Amino acid sequence: PYLLKNQKALVTGASSGIGEAVARHLARAGASVVINYHSDAESARKIVADICNEGGQAIAIGANVASEDEVQAMFQEMYLQFGGIDILVNNAGIQKDAAFIDMSLHDWNLVIGVNLTGQFLCAREAAKEFLKRGVKPDISSAAGKIICISSVHEVIPWAGHVNYASSKGGIEMMMKSIAQELAPHKIRVNSIAPGAIKTPINKNAWDTPQAEAQLLKLIPQGRVGEPDDIGRAAVWLASDDSDYVNGATLDVDGGMTLY
Ligand code: NAD
Repeated sequence: PYLLKNQKALVTGASSGIGEAVARHLARAGASVVINYHSDAESARKIVADICNEGGQAIAIGANVASEDEVQAMFQEMYLQFGGIDILVNNAGIQKDAAFIDMSLHDWNLVIGVNLTGQFLCAREAAKEFLKRGVKPDISSAAGKIICISSVHEVIPWAGHVNYASSKGGIEMMMKSIAQELAPHKIRVNSIAPGAIKTPINKNAWDTPQAEAQLLKLIPQGRVGEPDDIGRAAVWLASDDSDYVNGATLDVDGGMTLY
């Protein structure tokens, strides 16, 4: 049950939704977890308290992942408190939708900044530490693991969301390029591409019976996903059970990308 015993994990954007579920699952699998939050310190503190009450270990660290300085400070704080990192889950993400011709440069840069540049900055910090440390066989057969949360919109175009879809497509190619570069150092970099998952980001797509019925037409498996579906997938990708998986995209979408 403790696949991630003695491992230290950082989950970005973990004060809600998918990030929260991923953090809780990693903690239940034995990892010490940093709950990164942006503005919602109270939710982050509550999740930390829950995890600690269940016998796990967690701390909350605030940082805007789009800021190089804040990301570096967050990693330094993690090293101070936990002494290192074994697992990074790049999860923080936002949407700012508009028809293409109405989309402002500000909203384009905002979404690319958080969703894509934020993942780049965090992956770079984690990789520096993984390279410095190398493999510790008592911890894991990898020197470190990075899991990037993309979306089915890495492959499915999304009218009215060009900034979001572009950021998600970008995450996939960034992930594969980093994986190719770091694989010789026994660092594994993979992504999870969630389908429609019940979280605050897309509430209006599933929170009424009518909306849910519309959404289900796109999902062969016939149910909307839960954050726990992504949490379980993240534990597997973070563990040695997926030791030979590198540069891969795991679609967790009830078959949405089959249409
Ligand atoms: P969410 O809104 O609950 O989670 C996003 C989290 O990111 C929030 O906790 C938010 O505070 C945090 N965040 C936003 N800006 C940040 C910043 N600058 N720095 C640090 N944290 C920041 O929604 P979610 O569905 O849980 O989204 C999590 C990830 O999953 C996102 O990358 C999203 O694109 C992706 N995703 C979600 C779905 C879905 O159906 N819910 C589908 C595919 C992909």
